[in-house]
Amino acid sequence: MMENSFNTIIQYCEHCDKEVTCNVVEKYETMNSFGNEASILTKRAYCPYCQHELWVGELHDFNLTQRQAAWRRENGYLSIKQLEELPVKYNIGKRPFSQAIGLGEQTFTNYLNGSIPNKSIQHLLVKVYNNPAYYLELVEQNKNLLNEITIIKTIKAAHDLLGRNESSTLFLYAAYIIAKCGDVTPLQLQKMLYYTQACFIIFYNKLAFTDECEAWVHGPVYRNLWEKYKDYKYESISQAVQVPQLKSDEEAILNIVIEYFGKYSGKVLEEFTHKELPWLKAREGLAQNEPSNRIIDNDLIFEYYTSIKNKYNIVSLADIQSYIDKLW
Ligand SMILES: [Zn+2]
Repeated sequence: MMENSFNTIIQYCEHCDKEVTCNVVEKYETMNSFGNEASILTKRAYCPYCQHELWVGELHDFNLTQRQAAWRRENGYLSIKQLEELPVKYNIGKRPFSQAIGLGEQTFTNYLNGSIPNKSIQHLLVKVYNNPAYYLELVEQNKNLLNEITIIKTIKAAHDLLGRNESSTLFLYAAYIIAKCGDVTPLQLQKMLYYTQACFIIFYNKLAFTDECEAWVHGPVYRNLWEKYKDYKYESISQAVQVPQLKSDEEAILNIVIEYFGKYSGKVLEEFTHKELPWLKAREGLAQNEPSNRIIDNDLIFEYYTSIKNKYNIVSLADIQSYIDKLW
């Protein structure tokens, strides 16, 4: 696995009975993280003379934090960093945020400090994180607890997120895929966006966009996007598109989707989706060729790909291949 030394620490070695300058080694270790095996990035210091590991408080704290973060990921919890993003993106203080989503004034701060929410609150937090529309409903329910200015500011922030989250993100990612691939059919594009959603869940524990997809005969379809490109039918989308500017974490996922899923035809990708639970479940009771505009619930997609991440132990981006091999 990856292993490199990145800095040095001066520490007392009890075996050598002297202060030594030792390298800090950073590496991935498979360890038991609260009942689950997980690959965790650790930092450890070793004496250069006797090779014993030296106990360094700050490295111990770092490793513990990493284990806790792994535990959160494994169990579908938001990371502390994601929790910290919440009041920022909704432009509201921690305490009013806590009240806005129906929790006690201090409760959310406790979660920021590491206390673990119960299952239903965890579910609530993930939903608030992914779905500004749901957050707006909660604000509406709890607005008597908040002051006027707080309400106006946070509602505006949620609306801004909605405007950015819905379709514009989806269309931006579509433009990126078209520009990078050069040769992509509408069917292929739909499926690559569906797997973009899957990869965001697997690697970032969040949705790429909140647009809902429908369980059509030929797999999951984002209707607005389909409308835009439907005239190309089974041909490549021959539209000159500039590569849009994306954030590096978005690009990382889209490049993986292009590399790992983009090599398959639309038909093959369609067959992949036909083997997966979200599409199958949304179409329960329908005949094979029966048209349907049933929604594949984003919660279901979220849960399904979280379970895939755990089942196939997908840690690094390239690990996605092990899941594709299963679908193939
Ligand atoms: Zn030593």
